[in-house]
Amino acid sequence: MRIGVLSVQGAFAEMAAYWRAQGAETFEIRQRSDLERGMDLLALPGGESTVQGKLLNDLGLFTPLKERIDGGLPVFAVCAGLILLAEKIDDPGSRTNTRPEQWFGSLPIAVRRNAYGRQLGSFRTIGVFDGKPNVPMTFIRAPAITEVAPEVEVLSTFDGAPTSVRWRSITAFTWHPELN
Ligand code: GLN
Repeated sequence: MRIGVLSVQGAFAEMAAYWRAQGAETFEIRQRSDLERGMDLLALPGGESTVQGKLLNDLGLFTPLKERIDGGLPVFAVCAGLILLAEKIDDPGSRTNTRPEQWFGSLPIAVRRNAYGRQLGSFRTIGVFDGKPNVPMTFIRAPAITEVAPEVEVLSTFDGAPTSVRWRSITAFTWHPELN
């Protein structure tokens, strides 16, 4: 598999290392011409969704990536990547939950950014993922998924709320599978 890793900001090196450890070939997406290389899967790393959204726009990557995502390109998205994909940003008016300037809005879920507050800002747990037990889950200033459309498959939960989902060709996590 050839994986294009969005590499404008955040934990893209960890994402690429994870996929290479699975035997995949990876390349960095930093500018529009990188997209000409072609990919079997797009990986959207963790980081700051507001910064990533702005850079996607400034670098001219937003529209060509959105077309590919909406056209069915398989996507693996983590944390900030999940925020960029969410159809709705659930914004209760908190200062830390501002909307990214630009986001794809392709995945029918709602998310609240930085949802776990200061105490639980970052934490680890062990849970069930897609029926598999004992999966380590690392949450880093994670968002919460507050709504999912009926056709979205929930793959894991924490405190009863979805933490990873699959819909069409998109798999997205509020935690960081690539770190464990
Ligand atoms: N808090 C970040 C955001 O809102 C996401 C954190 C992460 O990607 N680990 O974009």
